Amino acid sequence: MNCFDQVEFADRAGIERIQAIRLKNTIYQATASRFYRGKLARAGIKLSDIHSHEDIGKLPFTTKEDLRSSYPFGLLTMPVERMVRLHASSGTTGSATVIFHTPNDLNSWADLVARCMHMSGVRPEDVFQNMSGYGLFTGGLGIHYGAERLGCLTIPAGAGNSKRQIKMLKDFKVTVAHIIPSYALHLGSVFSSAGVDPQSLHLRIMLIGAEPHSAEVRRRIEQIYGVKAYNSYGLSEMNGPGVAFECREQSGMHLWEDAYIPEIVNPETLEPVPEGEVGELVLTTLCREGMPVIRYRTRDLTRFIPGECPCGRKHRRIDRITGRSDDMIVLKGVNIYPMQVEKILMSIPEVGQNYLIVLEREGYMDQMRVMVEIRDEYFVEDMRTLQALQRKITALLREEILITARVDLVEHDSLPKNEGKAVRVVDKRDH
Ligand code: AMP
Ligand code: ZN
Repeated sequence: MNCFDQVEFADRAGIERIQAIRLKNTIYQATASRFYRGKLARAGIKLSDIHSHEDIGKLPFTTKEDLRSSYPFGLLTMPVERMVRLHASSGTTGSATVIFHTPNDLNSWADLVARCMHMSGVRPEDVFQNMSGYGLFTGGLGIHYGAERLGCLTIPAGAGNSKRQIKMLKDFKVTVAHIIPSYALHLGSVFSSAGVDPQSLHLRIMLIGAEPHSAEVRRRIEQIYGVKAYNSYGLSEMNGPGVAFECREQSGMHLWEDAYIPEIVNPETLEPVPEGEVGELVLTTLCREGMPVIRYRTRDLTRFIPGECPCGRKHRRIDRITGRSDDMIVLKGVNIYPMQVEKILMSIPEVGQNYLIVLEREGYMDQMRVMVEIRDEYFVEDMRTLQALQRKITALLREEILITARVDLVEHDSLPKNEGKAVRVVDKRDH
């Protein structure tokens, strides 16, 4: 038993008891903010209406637009002087939203991250390198304080500077790393020029998250580094990392239901989807005093994985995020998610570690161009082999997305790289 076990292994009745108490407390606290005082009053909600976790359905939703329109202080429940930190979302869609934390908020966040890391097998003896960007992005400080809370020697490496990352991994005998999956793939291709074999390192676990990635990408990362890679899900509005994380079974991410109430709804009707079906994840904070957020529409699409996890934890599991509802590409009337393209590309051995989807308009026709980096050893082959590969990729993609994309094979390392989250789609169509 360790200090996290009690709530981590609570049974459903225990979890629901905690949720009821904390939900009531959250609503009480939220009414101290200008934003929720108005919103809850308009919805006719009184504190005495909240008795159990099931009462969540009575509450109004909060959207990203709500956070933007009350920027910067509208959701604070206490004077800004009592806040000690702020973070912002990376603003992949529209302008950033800002989240404030009190010392208590930071404390429970660090506990959550430590619990996640412990669940995936990280221990105080581990040497931990955090390769995500520090600053406003929560993957830096958020993970950092969790790793320290767990007791790991924590190296705040930050993002980029691949040769130095490799040197630190080697010199400090790093055993666990946190890294954005697209960067993990890129870093993998820098090892040979640094004259280091990634398998010769002491690494045993990689924590990967912050951006959508397919099971094929995880598999590649595990192969390149000879590690187990665990999926980590979070968003700034809910602190950042520490919301849901994979246990050692690697079959979905346990969402900490003592700290969040999760719902999965149909994004059109906002009604709960039947158990096990994909919908939009909606989250309510239960452990945040400075800036609680109620029924936040994450836009992330996932499902609850039915049944119990063999690990014994009763906190429900969410599946790998298939995309964001605002990520969906509509092309020639067909709906496509970038992850569908990634899944196919990354299952083809000749394909390298990076790709880019470009949407173009030619005359009145929309086109999808998929630019694919090819591994060096295949790029030197003759024209005919390359053309055959191009045809194979086009056909496999067509089977998955029902559209004939133009496939451009490009050299290893020739597509633009991002230090943070990867940009997978460029839309050049004029709307
Ligand atoms: P931000 O708050 O700017 O760090 O962005 C949070 C968003 O990143 C989430 O809403 C998801 O869309 C995405 N994200 C974070 N972690 C994951 C993950 N493990 N898998 C897929 N998407 C993720
Ligand atoms: Zn589990």
